[in-house]
Amino acid sequence: MVVELISVGTELLLGNIVNTNTQFLAEKCALLGLSMYYQTVVGDNHDRLAQTVRTALERSDVVILTGGLGPTEDDMTKEVCAEVMGYPMEEDPHTRERIEEYFRNSAYKVIPDNNWKQAQVPAGARVLDNDNGTAPGLILEKDGKIAVLLPGPPVEMKPMFINQVYPYLQSLQPEVIRSQMIKICGIGESAVEEKLLDLIDGQTNPTIATYAKTGEVHVRVTAKAADEEAARKIMKPVVKEIRRRLGDFVYSTKENETLEMAVVKLLEKYELTATTAESCTGGLLAGRLVNVPGASEIFREGLITYSNKAKRKYLDVSKSTLKKYGAVSEQTAKEMAAGGVFATDSDVCVAVTGLAGPDGGTEEKPVGLVYIATYLKGSVKVESYHFKGDRAKIREQAVVKALDLLRRSILDNYR
Ligand code: ATP
Ligand code: MG
Repeated sequence: MVVELISVGTELLLGNIVNTNTQFLAEKCALLGLSMYYQTVVGDNHDRLAQTVRTALERSDVVILTGGLGPTEDDMTKEVCAEVMGYPMEEDPHTRERIEEYFRNSAYKVIPDNNWKQAQVPAGARVLDNDNGTAPGLILEKDGKIAVLLPGPPVEMKPMFINQVYPYLQSLQPEVIRSQMIKICGIGESAVEEKLLDLIDGQTNPTIATYAKTGEVHVRVTAKAADEEAARKIMKPVVKEIRRRLGDFVYSTKENETLEMAVVKLLEKYELTATTAESCTGGLLAGRLVNVPGASEIFREGLITYSNKAKRKYLDVSKSTLKKYGAVSEQTAKEMAAGGVFATDSDVCVAVTGLAGPDGGTEEKPVGLVYIATYLKGSVKVESYHFKGDRAKIREQAVVKALDLLRRSILDNYR
């Protein structure tokens, strides 16, 4: 079944508001397993809206419109859809009652005249009650085509969609769609694709899609089946095989689990306390860890040692190391990591030192050069990276790699 979205509102065309309704609905429609080929934004203009609705109904089975259901003159979605689909308008007594009740319970005791317009619905339409406003939603059906009209304000649209439209669309669909996420770090998207090429090439049900994120790759396996259990059964062997091929690069198979959550979980599991010693990331790394609820169990302090002096003072990095190799070097990163453990009496420290730019790069040490080290129970790991991008991007990538090195250090030591 093919669905398409129409967002109505001149303020959207002018960029005055962000079209969050489309993002919300597109995601939900994908979950329902509906195909979507078009999304349109159109202003509050009778002819252009009518043309847009006509075109959409020709090429799609279900058209979902948001906006323009209100009481004002520029709100015309309902009237235009009724006209295009050939339905006259009539008063819906139930909606009239609800409007009266809404105003009785609100601060405005007098009902503005133009609100009665909201009780007018296309004949035969299915009315969707609005629990958060006065404009009801509508479902119109004609010749096997469906138009779903929803109010523009997200606080009204979202609950109406979830409670009334989602189950309705689900009932039209004989199949369910379920997906499983596999989150990967420490290997690039093309390398992931190469490892999964034969699986991706042969895919029909389930399908496999890869997405690149900053420093990470996400793989989504999606199955269509008669019910939830059957969908899970189709995905299971494929997910297992992907996990086998990617091994420790996989840090999570949970939709909502972030890299820092996975790291905190590992630290908790092995009862380790961690600290951070940061130069170019200047606290970003500690910030990501502290984002995780319960981080206080594993993280007590972090050090931002930006200058050479601070690296010596707080982390005991030796003067000769800084002089001989420089602050951005493998040796300094290692000493920072070891120094962090001793300074804070924690089990593991992850250290970052690098050149975030835009100035200060040389041929030998270009902007984007970052060293990351971990020190865990006497064992040191260090890696160097050459990140591309601006200062913010370089720092962000360094944080991801630091979290990942911390993760792999724990795995290597404790399994
Ligand atoms: P109202 O009864 O409030 O007039 P309506 O259904 O007529 O609602 P619009 O007048 O088109 O809807 O929009 C009202 C408000 O809803 C906008 O000012 C905006 O804040 C929000 N809104 C509308 N469309 C969208 C959208 N696509 N994404 C996010 N917000 C939206
Ligand atoms: Mg309006």
